[in-house]
Amino acid sequence: MNIPERILLGPGPSTVPARVLAALAAPTLGHLDPAYLAIMDETRGLLKKVFRTDNQLTLAVPGTGSAGMEACVANLTEPGDDAIVCVAGAFGARLAEMAERQGAFVHLVSAEWGRTIDPEAVAAALAARPRTKWVGIVHAETSTGAHQPLEEISRIVHDAGALLLVDAVTSLGGHALAVDAWRIDACWSGTQKCLSCPPGLAPVTFSPVALEVIDRRQSKCRSWYLDMSLIRNYWGADRAYHHTAPVNMTYALCEALRVVEEEGLEARIARHRTNHLALRAGLEALGLSYIPERSLASLNAVRVPAGVDDVRARARLLEEFGIEIGGGLGPFKGKAWRIGLMGASSTRRNVTLLLGALETILRDAGAQLSPGAALAAAAASYGAGR
Ligand SMILES: *Cc1c(COP(=O)(O)O)cnc(C)c1O
Repeated sequence: MNIPERILLGPGPSTVPARVLAALAAPTLGHLDPAYLAIMDETRGLLKKVFRTDNQLTLAVPGTGSAGMEACVANLTEPGDDAIVCVAGAFGARLAEMAERQGAFVHLVSAEWGRTIDPEAVAAALAARPRTKWVGIVHAETSTGAHQPLEEISRIVHDAGALLLVDAVTSLGGHALAVDAWRIDACWSGTQKCLSCPPGLAPVTFSPVALEVIDRRQSKCRSWYLDMSLIRNYWGADRAYHHTAPVNMTYALCEALRVVEEEGLEARIARHRTNHLALRAGLEALGLSYIPERSLASLNAVRVPAGVDDVRARARLLEEFGIEIGGGLGPFKGKAWRIGLMGASSTRRNVTLLLGALETILRDAGAQLSPGAALAAAAASYGAGR
């Protein structure tokens, strides 16, 4: 392998720390070896901390973030169920698509891409559909950079007697998220975003109420592979064989979660915010404007400035500076840059490198910018400008 050196500032994957990569290369154990089972247990304990939950059914299913989404949807949906899905970007749309494939009658509560969902619209949808079994929403919409507040929506959903399903793929480990305090019934994430582990596992957690719903199903879960009633026996006391666990990926996730634990979740969230604010100050000094009304710290979506070729600018960043950022999806194709500051990628060094490189590229494209303005704005944000 001859892999180029990159700085990963796109919508995921993020930079993987060397110690996490080293964990991947440790000798493979049998998936029922007591030494491996101890690592599973440690991983589960660390996942509960990062999700801020006591949920017994907290584990990592094989597959990427989408597998976590599918696990939650497939286990909590039976054909003919009513579900409400909040859609304000590509991942909300994916969630709706999965619910439909599981046979749910899906009602959408939509907002324009870049905006957040209005809790009143969720309340109105629930009032119109009193049989609604669950409401699904994306906490951190990676396609638009919008940060969705959840607490009020959670109250509305529970007042209506429905379950709340939350996509925390781009928020877990980088943003405040409290599964128990916010009464989230099922939550999924991925390893390659703010947890800074390679892609390949999907942390999931189910509340005791969600578990009862799973236990009371009239029909079998339509996915055998992601059937939590089978998987929980493997992660539980029985250790009953279901599938061969991706052993080395579990080592990597365990090590990535130890990194989170050592930094401290609060300090990690604060670091994401500090670097986001500095990047934002720098990007705005370059004349770039943010798309979402309420931006994430982990994903910064800005408009591609007029007169700048999106594809060429990103190609220059990658080829000349070794920096990856993301382009726009769907309606934002060619119109947005998505800059991730996730996990180990969220550093002052990366903010500074990116702002310097972007300034060069924008000036070459004809932008009238005073040299160093972006770096000065970022430095001021960090407090070094005093
Ligand atoms: C990345 C992402 C997913 C999908 O995860 P994959 O690992 O690509 O399968 C789902 N939801 C959100 C919000 C994401 O950012």
